[in-house]
Amino acid sequence: MNTIHFLDLATTHDSIRQELDAAYQRVMHSSRFILGEEVAAFEREFSAYCGVGQCIGVGNGLDAIHLVLRALGIGPGDEVLVPSNTYIATWLAVSQAGATPVPVEPLASTHNIDPQAIERAITPRTRAIIPVHLYGQPADMAPICEIARRRGLKVVEDAAQAHGALYDGQRAGSLGDAAAFSFYPGKNLGALGDGGAVVTRDEALAKRVRTLANYGSKVKYVHDVSGYNSRLDELQAAFLRVKLPYLDEWNAHRRVLVDRYFARLRDEAIGLPVVIGKASPVWHLFVVRVQERARVMRYLQESGVGVQIHYPIPPMRSGAYQEQCRTMQPCAIADALSDDVLSLPIGPHLSVAQVDSVCELLLEAVRSTG
Ligand SMILES: *Cc1c(COP(=O)(O)O)cnc(C)c1O
Repeated sequence: MNTIHFLDLATTHDSIRQELDAAYQRVMHSSRFILGEEVAAFEREFSAYCGVGQCIGVGNGLDAIHLVLRALGIGPGDEVLVPSNTYIATWLAVSQAGATPVPVEPLASTHNIDPQAIERAITPRTRAIIPVHLYGQPADMAPICEIARRRGLKVVEDAAQAHGALYDGQRAGSLGDAAAFSFYPGKNLGALGDGGAVVTRDEALAKRVRTLANYGSKVKYVHDVSGYNSRLDELQAAFLRVKLPYLDEWNAHRRVLVDRYFARLRDEAIGLPVVIGKASPVWHLFVVRVQERARVMRYLQESGVGVQIHYPIPPMRSGAYQEQCRTMQPCAIADALSDDVLSLPIGPHLSVAQVDSVCELLLEAVRSTG
């Protein structure tokens, strides 16, 4: 049986092994591991890629969101609107800042936050909206930013799944007041360990994030505010500098694969994601909806196809939010999605022929019953 991996980082890394090895040698010989030239260079290169002026390398994507909220002065007593169906990090960042995450339902068609539902969730305590560009498709940022402007709210993009995605010709990361990226290894742009970044056009905000991420210090041993230790390290920055020039090519390959998925999976029994007109997604994940998911999953797995669920439990249903959940509005769409979403293999490692095999097996699975 030929296994089709859900994700295969080894194949991707093999294709650029010499450059990664050279990056490691460069950093090792420099003996500079924290806050050196590699991070500074990556920050320049990634902010240019996103089309904004400022980038701060931080420890991971969760910290990136948290640090932006702190730098915006958001904390206890404040409410922040978050999608009801995101990865839990979006919520945890709000909680860690001391603020309250308020769930907003997505549109079931795009899986992204519903702008009309945002309007209904705003209270006098609301300070910010965190749209997530879920699975690599930009959220519908024009109406979201219009509501934010009108109601005096900040917009913080969670772009952890959307490196390189476009909305109306603009990069994810350049669409709100600030954006958070993750370079977790499995992301479209991934380090060989943890990493993250904040990008923004706002110089003053960038300065505050940089200070907070480095022990609240601008000058060594002078600590102006109570900060954190959350820095992208030199080695990860060097690896990311190797990978960034390949990102567009890898994303283009993901688009080719998804075109194939769309062409082959036109079946009533399979719910395909809807792409909005302004969006050019980068397909971090390719998520379909199927009935009898457990059975379909088992069939694919037994046939050697790696499939996963993003995400099986909405944040508000998780143990982490057991208490708060009682006072939250029910989220029927997030619940329904968590019951039937299924993520199919995708990534630079995958061939069109392999996508064809996955489609054949998936169609077999949904058409057979019992
Ligand atoms: C991965 C991810 C994060 C968190 O990133 P880490 O680097 O793992 O902390 C946040 N939000 C979303 C939507 C993610 O997919």
